[in-house]
Amino acid sequence: GATQYVSARVAPLGSQLVLVLVEDRTRERRLDAIRRDFTVNVSHELKTPVGALILLADAVSEASDDPEAVQRFSDRMRIEASRLSRLVKEIIELSRLQGDDPLEHPHSVDINAVIEAAVDRCRVDAEDRDIKIVVKTEPELEVMGSEDQLSIAIGNLVENAVNYSPDGTRVAVAAHPIGDLVEVTVSDQGVGIPTSDLERIFERFYRVDRARSRETGGTGLGLSIVKHIASIHGGDVRVWSVEGQGSTFTVRLPLRLESAPGQTGSPSQE
Ligand code: ADP
Repeated sequence: GATQYVSARVAPLGSQLVLVLVEDRTRERRLDAIRRDFTVNVSHELKTPVGALILLADAVSEASDDPEAVQRFSDRMRIEASRLSRLVKEIIELSRLQGDDPLEHPHSVDINAVIEAAVDRCRVDAEDRDIKIVVKTEPELEVMGSEDQLSIAIGNLVENAVNYSPDGTRVAVAAHPIGDLVEVTVSDQGVGIPTSDLERIFERFYRVDRARSRETGGTGLGLSIVKHIASIHGGDVRVWSVEGQGSTFTVRLPLRLESAPGQTGSPSQE
């Protein structure tokens, strides 16, 4: 077993080192198990849209002399295909985030640009459903990292806020500094999340209501991606929610260090 292996090789070097190796092998095994689970989940999640596409393709050929039915089935094929494409895109994104070098070339990122890109992505869906997105930020909030990744993270939160809210409600996005951190908050007046689900929603593929997530084209990977991006940037993400009243997600990130105040944006200060 692990103990024997470790003690045989390392015991002479001292007890502290032995402990480190035991810990290491446990971690390795745990990672193996997580990888195996992920592969099983991915195959399962891919089967659903692929299965639907096969059935719909059959239905289209059988309905060839009924143009209305052909139209209906091909519309549904388009929905399933875009779900599949989104799923694949997010699986690739997630495995890149879990790779060795997820932040290739960190640079100074303006949080306002991140929020603008994130809100832009959701604007059309929100307007269609009469949901107002209100943004409140402050100038000169900069972090070190990837603008693309941070826009994806905040975009996922805004997208969820819109998706899980009734028509005509309000989504608020705000950013402000707290000490040497910046806090970005996304709040909604939506369906909320039951307390018993709160600690699981950041897990890959976890969804409170599968049917609802599916309806909105959800993959169950959005929050897991947010969590990884926040952690890669040295920050974290938290959630508060009251079922039936709404949710608030908060991402905290370390502000870019500056050697002197008022020098924001000067690369020589990095
Ligand atoms: P999905 O693609 O299903 O939205 P996420 O990982 O983004 O996956 O979110 C996981 C689950 O957490 C969702 O399926 C939903 O049940 C819940 N959730 C996320 N954001 C919100 C929100 N703003 N309001 C209510 N429920 C939410």
